[in-house]
Amino acid sequence: MATEKGISRRSFLVGASAAAAGVAAVGLTACNPEPEVPVWMPEKWDYEADVVVLGFGFAGQAAALEAADLGASVIVADTASRAYVGGSSTANQHHDFSFIGPNVATNIKYVTSECWGTVEDPDVIRRQIEENHKLPDWLAGLGATIVFSTSECTHPTIPGGKEMEAPNNRFVALSPQSYIDKFPCPGSGLSPYTEWWIDLMEERNVTMMYNTRGEELVQDGATKNILGVKCLEGVTYTKDFKLNEGSGKEIFIKAKKGVVVATGGYEANEEMLRDFAPHPHSAFITMYGSPYSDGSGLTMCCQVGARLWHLNKKEAHSFACAPASFELGVGNVVTSWANSIATHPGIMVNRDGKRFYNEYHYSGHSDDARAWDEFEQKNAPVDNYTYCDYRNTPFYHIFDNTTFTKKKLGSPNRFVEVSDVYRWSSDNKPELAKGWIIQADTLDALAKKIVIRDWFGAVVGMDAKGLVETVAKYNEDAAEGEDTLFGRRASTMLPIVDPPFFAMEIADCQTNTQGGPKHDADCRVLDSFDRPIPGLYIAGELGSIFGHLYNGGENIPESSSGGRRAAQHAVTRTAWDAVE
Ligand SMILES: Cc1cc2nc3c(=O)[nH]c(=O)nc-3n(C[C@H](O)[C@H](O)[C@H](O)COP(=O)(O)OP(=O)(O)OC[C@H]3O[C@@H](n4cnc5c(N)ncnc54)[C@H](O)[C@@H]3O)c2cc1C
Repeated sequence: MATEKGISRRSFLVGASAAAAGVAAVGLTACNPEPEVPVWMPEKWDYEADVVVLGFGFAGQAAALEAADLGASVIVADTASRAYVGGSSTANQHHDFSFIGPNVATNIKYVTSECWGTVEDPDVIRRQIEENHKLPDWLAGLGATIVFSTSECTHPTIPGGKEMEAPNNRFVALSPQSYIDKFPCPGSGLSPYTEWWIDLMEERNVTMMYNTRGEELVQDGATKNILGVKCLEGVTYTKDFKLNEGSGKEIFIKAKKGVVVATGGYEANEEMLRDFAPHPHSAFITMYGSPYSDGSGLTMCCQVGARLWHLNKKEAHSFACAPASFELGVGNVVTSWANSIATHPGIMVNRDGKRFYNEYHYSGHSDDARAWDEFEQKNAPVDNYTYCDYRNTPFYHIFDNTTFTKKKLGSPNRFVEVSDVYRWSSDNKPELAKGWIIQADTLDALAKKIVIRDWFGAVVGMDAKGLVETVAKYNEDAAEGEDTLFGRRASTMLPIVDPPFFAMEIADCQTNTQGGPKHDADCRVLDSFDRPIPGLYIAGELGSIFGHLYNGGENIPESSSGGRRAAQHAVTRTAWDAVE
């Protein structure tokens, strides 16, 4: 296994003297040769701790608590305000569904197959699983109520899958009852679990810095040792969760033993989604987790030479109302997905007004290629038709008055509701008034009201004739009891006949991203040559060992056990500013 090499004694001394003197980083000349302050040193350190944790989701919480319990001084910096802290973890309300199987050996076998050969070092999986299995006792020891239950395995046919389907193969850790009573969620806008953990931090004298965003790591240019982190203190966000550019004051936090980057995924970063998430384009994707997951941790780790892995995740879970999600800045899930669309009249159509898949077929958490992701390329003269685009995005849920009046279309929960960002009404009327749902007396008029832009931004509109024909054909098939186009189960085909008619633009909505900086069994971040970057740790969704296949309940245990593993290693290090 690689070790942390190359931290010279001279570097320690230079770092120590620079920090102690609080002198400027640059501008020293031959007239003032001693001591020479390296350019990477900040002018002064504003705060310091043994371990600095960026992010306060399950991963950051576990890292901070473990480091504190092992005797380290700890600072947690989170970019969110006190009201929104907790990331995608907070959207779970509790330490949710953790899938661990019946025992360590079976779990290792299954996770090894799930990783599909992309984790070469067997210690990484072994350590993660061993620590995952310790979590129930650890959380119970802190005061959580552990509830075991049994669930199906997401990938039962891969090696180890069947054996994972054992009794009590998963657990949930509930916050102490007093927190559940005080923060009934959704309802209070605060997650009982996050609130409980804030108190656990206070009991341990962990310094919590809200509205403090990790920006860049401070790295010793010679040894590559991570010395601390540059943050923006006092950052603010717009109502739709965009960082107010220019907000926040630059500060430097010294991390004597290590920085744990636990900033979650890159769900809220359009550019990264375009680059890494293999979907038509991010304008049509939303995530229902934290809007603060902007990939900044990934960027910071790249800055200091981290190697990347597992950014190849492709998982579909739900649908969101596109205009609502883009306006709110976070995915707002709707009941248009898979079998929920079948309870009331409804179909999905593309810009041609045509159905393009069996709406009842797909289910949650699947890695299949999706019909709305299809890239169509046709070149004349082969078929006398030249076309090149994502034909099926954007796409629309078409329904009638029966659905509108009888079905609550918003099914948010997740971050949007748990954090009180928006609560969908029970009669869909406010959402109609906001323009998130479009209404017309006829299908022809409905199609003409829909403004569709293609990938290049050109307004292409919906084909009204196509929509009228599609609904007629669907109603005919429904009456005949056979979907002649896509084989949708006949019992789910309720006719669309009750005017007025409605359309809602849909966006693919996912749980979370995976991958990022590669790490070893101790959650040390590895560089391009698989060597640990001294003093840099990663935990949680960011840098997950999963990528290719959705893991089905293993993100949460990975986050908590990753935080603990990172802290356990970091506290063993010698403080870089210790003077020998
Ligand atoms: C609704 C929902 C349900 C889920 N259900 C399950 C489930 O049942 N089982 C399962 O295993 N997984 C589930 N997942 C996935 C799982 O919850 C996440 O993968 C996990 O919580 C991620 O934890 P984390 O600590 O890595 O990141 P997060 O919880 O996202 O925390 C990251 C924190 O970092 C902060 N941050 C971001 N950038 C910065 C920065 N630059 N500086 C400082 N702070 C920053 C954020 O504000 C946030 O507080 C679910 C996800 C969602 C959204």
